[in-house]
Amino acid sequence: MQQRPTRIVVDLDALAGNLCAIRAHVGVPVMAIVKANAYGHGLVPVARHLQQQGVGQFGVAFVEEGITLRRAGIDAPILVLGGILGRQAAQLIQHDLEITVSSLDKLRQVEAAAEALGRKAVIHLKIDTGMERIGVHSYSCGPLIEAAVASRWCQIKGIYSHLACADDPASPMTALQLERFHDACAHFERLSVPMPIRHLANSGGVLHFPATWLDMVRPGILLYGVLPDPAAQRNVPVVPVLSLISQVVYFKVVRAGNPVSYGATWAPPQDTRVITIPLGYGDGWPRALSNRGEVLVRGQRRPIVGRICMDQFMVDLGPDGTAYNGDDVVLIGCQGGQCIRVEDVAVQADTIGYEILTRLNERIPREYIQRSAGPAV
Ligand SMILES: *Cc1c(COP(=O)(O)O)cnc(C)c1O
Repeated sequence: MQQRPTRIVVDLDALAGNLCAIRAHVGVPVMAIVKANAYGHGLVPVARHLQQQGVGQFGVAFVEEGITLRRAGIDAPILVLGGILGRQAAQLIQHDLEITVSSLDKLRQVEAAAEALGRKAVIHLKIDTGMERIGVHSYSCGPLIEAAVASRWCQIKGIYSHLACADDPASPMTALQLERFHDACAHFERLSVPMPIRHLANSGGVLHFPATWLDMVRPGILLYGVLPDPAAQRNVPVVPVLSLISQVVYFKVVRAGNPVSYGATWAPPQDTRVITIPLGYGDGWPRALSNRGEVLVRGQRRPIVGRICMDQFMVDLGPDGTAYNGDDVVLIGCQGGQCIRVEDVAVQADTIGYEILTRLNERIPREYIQRSAGPAV
């Protein structure tokens, strides 16, 4: 099949380099977070490549994501980070997925499923230290920890919490959350049982808060070379992994005063040259970029004009700009020494890099490149 002239290019060498940079920075094992289609980069190819680089622990959000990885032959441990319902427990155990246990109730449900299957569940206890999402509050986690330690059907592999403000190096919230997490972990010392793997740091924690690294870190967005927040410090040498590239499919001259696209929200003050690019919000390219975003054409920044449509949008080349049908148009990535980063697109669309990446959907084909030796995936 001849594919549409739009693609996401995923640089696997950049991904491996980012993993190396993070490992060198923190000095503890990395749980690679590959939820949401590996932040839009493609779940299975990304996990496969990371496993080849020796990643010994993956994190996903949902049971389906874990099962997809198992079916693709990923055999490293996989933790399902999200909250679960009792009816999902058996499925998790059967697929050898590690389970987040976030309350006494959930522990009982997981135990029941494990006993029925005659197979121990591997669990990570989830402590809420300030996010007020899933997890037992740190100030009332004693009974859960005691019950989990006593459980015949659950093996406690980890204990963890999630940071709410780590992308802001100045936030006092992280120190408070760390202190609460240490209090929770102290129950293991009180019970004189071995401490499970303690993990707390997301990308923000990796970048800004060494005290949160503990026994393992859980970076997501940083692995893909994108900063969690425009205010974050780029003190780990990561590079972007994903590029989004399309091609010119139409060129026309628009006469002065004639409006472009739905709603007639923009019209050129003078005759100008306008090209059409074949992707739109139906691919996950934000409609919020209407009359705001930029793309690279022939190494130059050019403005998006008019509203972004479901499958197409328009770009103004000005009265003298040139471009031909089939020319590459870079939406995310570099061309001719100019670069548009995910972070730039996020600011223009009034959102965060996470949303830009994870919205890029299955309609866009993904291409994997790898210069280094080893089999391409
Ligand atoms: C998504 C997620 C992460 C990774 O977050 P980043 O900010 O992308 O590094 C880590 N831990 C948990 C529990 C998550 O849900």
